[in-house]
Amino acid sequence: MTHCPKCPSETLVESKCLGNLLLDHCPACGGIWFDKGELEALLSQSQGQVSTDFNLLTPKPAGCECPRCRKKMPRGGLVNPLLLVDKCPDCGGVWLDHNELDLLKKLLGLTGGPSSGEPVQRPPAAPALPALPARRFRLLPLASIALGSIGLFYQVRNYLKVIEKPSPMRFFIVSVICILLFSYGLFSLLQRVSPGSSDKN
Ligand SMILES: [Zn+2]
Ligand SMILES: [Zn+2]
Repeated sequence: MTHCPKCPSETLVESKCLGNLLLDHCPACGGIWFDKGELEALLSQSQGQVSTDFNLLTPKPAGCECPRCRKKMPRGGLVNPLLLVDKCPDCGGVWLDHNELDLLKKLLGLTGGPSSGEPVQRPPAAPALPALPARRFRLLPLASIALGSIGLFYQVRNYLKVIEKPSPMRFFIVSVICILLFSYGLFSLLQRVSPGSSDKN
């Protein structure tokens, strides 16, 4: 497990982020880690000359830690003063930020190709999406249950009152509506709480 020197929570993954080379790269920031000699070999191949000096040009002390040995890595130009990298003084590995990748590709003579060094789009937090409509649809059965039970309560109260008794027809219709509302609400609520609940009880 090698952690990205720029994003402490990210683990470097091996993938073909530069031509066909398998390299450790960070899926979050798109930076690439080259073990000792890997980048130098590429550069000397493409430059068509065996450059012996791969020391950093105008190195500056920087804060970023080597993912292999946790040493602070100075930052400077490699071969080209514009190609800024972090190079570990201990293990000789090189960290390349994603925004340096295009320049490196130009130096290596790699043009186009899949820009697989791009930071990977994380899938959106999926469970948040379906939760909202489900909660909204649950309001309808709840409202039906509430309305139905309030109606039934008043019906019973009216029935128990001897004075001003409602007409039997109206009493019957209102009761049926209330019972229908109540049972519809209860039924659909139960269905939503446990979908496909033929095995309920
Ligand atoms: Zn990173
Ligand atoms: Zn190191």
